Amino acid sequence: MVETPTLLLSEAIREGAKLHPQGFGRMCIELPDGTRSTCAYGAAFEGAGESFDRDYPGDTRKLFESLFPALKNRRFLQCPASKERGNACVILDLYGLMFHLNDSHRWKRLRIADWLSEQGY
Ligand SMILES: [Zn+2]
Repeated sequence: MVETPTLLLSEAIREGAKLHPQGFGRMCIELPDGTRSTCAYGAAFEGAGESFDRDYPGDTRKLFESLFPALKNRRFLQCPASKERGNACVILDLYGLMFHLNDSHRWKRLRIADWLSEQGY
């Protein structure tokens, strides 16, 4: 059996972030001028070779877990922005933290990717 190498979430974000500027609140936002912005997940999605121009039936989380098995981990993590805030922020699983860092703290996608790399993702 041949093992399919799994693309790391951090690598996919770095690749996808080259395609569009960062957006917030949705994975992919169509701007009036026809351009798009993507959040950390949107970047990961495109960085993995997927496209927002295709239809993907079913649950978004399951889709992401199939692309990035690390997201199946339900272990709760302290928000890494807690340190810079000087007090404890939220505790979420990895899937939730990525939305949180992108939308609530507005971390740049490459910063999110760097943090993911440090976690081994
Ligand atoms: Zn936080």
